[in-house]
Amino acid sequence: MKFICIGRNYAAHIEELKNERNEEPVVFLKPDTALLKDNQPFYLPDFSTDVHHEVEILLKISKEGKYIEPKFAHNYFEEIGLGIDFTARDLQSKLKAKGLPWEISKAFNHSAVVSHFVPASNYPDLKNLNFSLEVNGQIRQQGNTSMMLFDFATIISYVSKFFTLKKGDIIFTGTPAGVAPVAIGDRLKGYIEQELFFDFEVK
Ligand code: MG
Repeated sequence: MKFICIGRNYAAHIEELKNERNEEPVVFLKPDTALLKDNQPFYLPDFSTDVHHEVEILLKISKEGKYIEPKFAHNYFEEIGLGIDFTARDLQSKLKAKGLPWEISKAFNHSAVVSHFVPASNYPDLKNLNFSLEVNGQIRQQGNTSMMLFDFATIISYVSKFFTLKKGDIIFTGTPAGVAPVAIGDRLKGYIEQELFFDFEVK
C-alpha cells in the first residue's frame, strides 16, 4: 500500500508557512514503512529538532481505479479516519530553499499516524466535518473540511491521473493551521466531531 498526501490544502495553513497558493493540489507520497498505527508511541527521530504535527482527515481507498472522474470519486472510498502527517520542518525548509525534493522530511519511518477507520456514511455531509488535535489537553489544531481548497472528489480525481489507486491505499487530505513542534512526553489526541480517533505519546 501507499500513502498519497496532499499539501497546502487549507488557506490559513498556507499563510502560516508563508507558502504560495497553488492552482492544482500539491502531492507527495510516503512508503508503507511510514505507517504508525494502534496508538503506538512516536519516537522522535535523531535527524530533526523540529518535528511538527499535521492533523489530517484520511480516506481509505476501497477499490482500484485510475483517471477517476470527480463525480464517481465517492465510489472509491467507503471509510474515513484521522491521522498525522509528521514533518521534519527543519529538514524540509533546507531542502525547499535549495529547490530539492523534500521526501526525507515527510516520508521517514513512522511519519504517518493512522487511526481506526469508520464508514464515511456515518457522516451526513463530508464537506462539513469538524476535526481537531489536542496536545497535552490543549486544542492545537482545528479544522473543517469545508475549508479545504480541493475537496475529496477533486483530490481523488487528480491523484488518480498519476497513480493507480489500489484497495488499502490511504490519502492524507491536508492540514489546517496550527502546526507546531512536538516534544518528548507530549500526548496527542485526535477527534472527528466529538469522537476520539487516536491517543498516543511522543517518546
Ligand atoms: Mg500534511
